[in-house]
Amino acid sequence: MKRPHELRIPGPLGQRQRHWRALWLRSLLPPLTLLGLVLSRLVDLALALLLLILLSPLLLARSLIARLRSGQVFATEPLVGRFRAPFERLRFADEAPGQGLPVLLNILRGDMAIAGPRPLTAAEAARVGVEAAVRFTVRPGVFSPYRLKSRTGVAYAPEAQIDRDYAYGQSARGDAGLVVRSLIGEVLGGGEAPTPPILEFFGVPIVNTTMPEAVDWIAARAGGGDPALLAFVNPDCLNIAYVDAEYRRILLDAARVLPDGIGIHIGCRMLGVALQANVNGTDLFPQLCERAAQTGLGLFLLGARPGIADAVAANMRAQFPGLRIDGVQDGYFDPADEDAVIDGINASGAAILLVAFGVPRQEKWLARNQERLTLPVRMGVGGLFDFYSGRIPRAPVWMREIGLEWTWRLMQEPGRMWRRYVIGNPLFLYRVWRQARGGETS
Ligand code: UDP
Repeated sequence: MKRPHELRIPGPLGQRQRHWRALWLRSLLPPLTLLGLVLSRLVDLALALLLLILLSPLLLARSLIARLRSGQVFATEPLVGRFRAPFERLRFADEAPGQGLPVLLNILRGDMAIAGPRPLTAAEAARVGVEAAVRFTVRPGVFSPYRLKSRTGVAYAPEAQIDRDYAYGQSARGDAGLVVRSLIGEVLGGGEAPTPPILEFFGVPIVNTTMPEAVDWIAARAGGGDPALLAFVNPDCLNIAYVDAEYRRILLDAARVLPDGIGIHIGCRMLGVALQANVNGTDLFPQLCERAAQTGLGLFLLGARPGIADAVAANMRAQFPGLRIDGVQDGYFDPADEDAVIDGINASGAAILLVAFGVPRQEKWLARNQERLTLPVRMGVGGLFDFYSGRIPRAPVWMREIGLEWTWRLMQEPGRMWRRYVIGNPLFLYRVWRQARGGETS
């Protein structure tokens, strides 16, 4: 038989040791963070110097051109830096390629870093509230997390929030990743282009909007009015619409079609227009849940394998207290039970129905049952429930920022996805290229 003290030994002692080890490690953190900051400043200095030396012939030539064309070498822009200290950002005085290169001198002087929040004007800085003021504890950067996200259409949170998160989580590794992703983002983002309210791919009109506006629109329509069908389209969907007349007709009749993914972004560039934001269902869903929880609108989740929609409901209720999910139903019910399923949806009191059967099955189901359903907003959401139930992990944020979410999905389900991406993506780009040249559009 064990004596009482022997029974007690493993637990409390083990815990105490872990506690001390954690405390010891934590006491190392501030000096380590300080070291990290010093190191990242040294890296900035070294890189700026190296670039200045390597580019010196170009910089000299560029200075001469600026001088000849505008009578002076540099123009300055008054901005606000670390600890709200004012500084002058340098540019070449004339508008021509390479105009921003003198910013390397700002990095040398310590006004700016390579990575950091965007430098603000005095007026912009005055508008930054206390909750985001932590952004002023780090040097403003040439590459900023907000610019990266807005360039690739995934800046769903306000800039102040993105900057605050950056300042709290800054690390040398994070900064290196930010610079690499920004360089890729700059290539993807392209130059300035007009932003038409409607984008058109193969004759399918897509609303060119932002995430907050899309959420406002859904909430307004969920409040009453004509029933509205909402569809999200990515290149795969547009490829299907190219050959499937029924699905195409549904998209043309839908209240709104929204742009989903990097493929649409690239397609827009090929057509010489700018996409405002990547308004895909997966990123919209938590924002919609937040709004629904605030306004009391109820959701009904229909689709995916048994148990998945229940898990989504539990996760979202935990994340957004007060969220009404008025019903769930898996997507593998017997067709003979369809009447009962529709009666259940109508009786649930929900205002927004999310259907996850995959494209184009979900849109066809919604169109076929459009008169029998009574709730005001219906939307097809594809694999969304699989992500929010945790069944399929979503691509990490850094992959989404550089438009590589599709490669993640391809790696996860190669058997099912290779046709969609390996064949579908080039086919889509070819069709857009033909459209851009003024060829066939449908
Ligand atoms: N699904 C369903 N019923 C079916 C066939 C599929 O509920 O009869 C679900 C499936 O479980 C998955 C979703 O529909 O959750 C389709 O996901 P996919 O990733 O293919 O969506 P897409 O990429 O087409 O948006």
